[in-house]
Amino acid sequence: MNHPDKTTFAPYYQLCTEIDALSELLEKQHHQHINCKKGCDLCCMAISVFPVEFYAIKAELDLKSIPELSVSQNDEDCRYLVGHSCAIYPSRPVICRTHGLPLLYMSLEWNDWELSCCELNFTDFDLDDFTPENTYPMDRINSQLYQINKNFVADFEDGKYSETDRIPLAELIL
Ligand code: SF4
Ligand code: SF4
Repeated sequence: MNHPDKTTFAPYYQLCTEIDALSELLEKQHHQHINCKKGCDLCCMAISVFPVEFYAIKAELDLKSIPELSVSQNDEDCRYLVGHSCAIYPSRPVICRTHGLPLLYMSLEWNDWELSCCELNFTDFDLDDFTPENTYPMDRINSQLYQINKNFVADFEDGKYSETDRIPLAELIL
């Protein structure tokens, strides 16, 4: 497969739809404790993504139609943050779709859970009140994304990428 189209990315887009639905649910559940708003961009930084995400975003976006993509960059800034807003918001990668929400992971030792959330949110929330029902199941989501990417790279440009390769998102506009 050398020229993937939108059909190729159907499983990835489906995962994004599921993530957005869960985000909406959690946002409603925790609305009193979430301070995310347009213009708040401390969570935005240069990231790299799996090839399936990179090429799915590329297939979806008409980058030429996006004005003023940031050019004065240091390596830590996200190139798509324009005037404190995400210029590719509808197509943003998975990690950006979960910004601000309580993310639940199994610890690296596999013997405990770890909770991650933005320090600007949940400032008056008892962290003990987080449960698997009111948090993001990040291990499941990451496993699904990993599997979708694995299937994608297996069939993409004669094995150009391994299943663990990542691509800087900034390269979308190189
Ligand atoms: S892609 Fe958008 S949401 Fe993600 S880090 Fe960049 S500006 Fe922020
Ligand atoms: S996650 Fe934190 S930094 Fe990002 S928009 Fe929400 S409150 Fe602001």
